[in-house]
Amino acid sequence: MSLMYGKNLAKWVVLGLAAAGAALSGCATNAPRTTVVAEGVTRVELGSVKVTMLRDGAGSRVLDANFVRNAALADVQADLKAAGQPTDKLEVPYTTPVVDIGGQRVLFDTGNGEFGGASAGKLLENMLKAGIDPQSITAVVISHFHGDHINGLRNKAGAVAFPNAKIYVPNPEWNWWMDEARYAATPEASRGGLNTARRVFTPMADKVIRFEPGKEVLPGVRSIAAFGHTPGHTVFMIEGGAKKLLYWADTTNVAMFVRNPDWAVSFDMNAEEARATRRRIAELAIAENALVAGFHLPGSAIGTLSVRDKGYDFTPLQ
Ligand SMILES: [Zn+2]
Repeated sequence: MSLMYGKNLAKWVVLGLAAAGAALSGCATNAPRTTVVAEGVTRVELGSVKVTMLRDGAGSRVLDANFVRNAALADVQADLKAAGQPTDKLEVPYTTPVVDIGGQRVLFDTGNGEFGGASAGKLLENMLKAGIDPQSITAVVISHFHGDHINGLRNKAGAVAFPNAKIYVPNPEWNWWMDEARYAATPEASRGGLNTARRVFTPMADKVIRFEPGKEVLPGVRSIAAFGHTPGHTVFMIEGGAKKLLYWADTTNVAMFVRNPDWAVSFDMNAEEARATRRRIAELAIAENALVAGFHLPGSAIGTLSVRDKGYDFTPLQ
């Protein structure tokens, strides 16, 4: 049972409105019911839509002047210090949602699989802790083709992790990474991302469904173009439950970029476009009163967004 539920219940009791029915309905309208199933596994019930956040792990990197392209390292460190975080290194978490909606079980992005660091690649382990059989995943929806988002689709031996799932990918993303002319023109030393996309997708091309951002990918899952981080980066509004959920993938990297949406992380392939996208997508979440889930957001990686100063605040559900 969630902390939020506990708080609500206490309040109702204090107010003398302790009938169980009143407490339950108060909970249902004010905050989604959240359950921490295990470390790295959080379940959120949005009426008929059920969301399970599964942590794939985290990467750790030394914080240097290159991480944020357009802010002084001292300013970046001051922001982290104010947020109570270390200023010499940075933890970058990876968390994916599984959404049960309309008879489909949809995984959004796949984590690192066997291709990340020692503290990543825990998605399948946490999926089992959540009681979700990988064979029961009917659809995998991909936001973009960076390795931490697609490598979990196929292991080193070549076996697919979600054998019964169709794979939905944004068409502009496919066209950019799978373009043969680009591959031929790229020196071998710079082909890392192009090779990753080929390793994952070429043997399963018959399972891949390409969609144009803006279209409904599956009933209740609307895709929204959010280009900039990569040429075809796409986010998803999940509708039909008690509350909307926007899975914004890498619209921001870690929470520092929620607080400072004009800062450009070094991984943004088109920094200017990514900055404009960040504000547009954050404003959309607020306008539609949607919960936000992000692949690199902290804690449960699903929560609420609010305006603060020149940026936003992300508060994870717990
Ligand atoms: Zn990423």
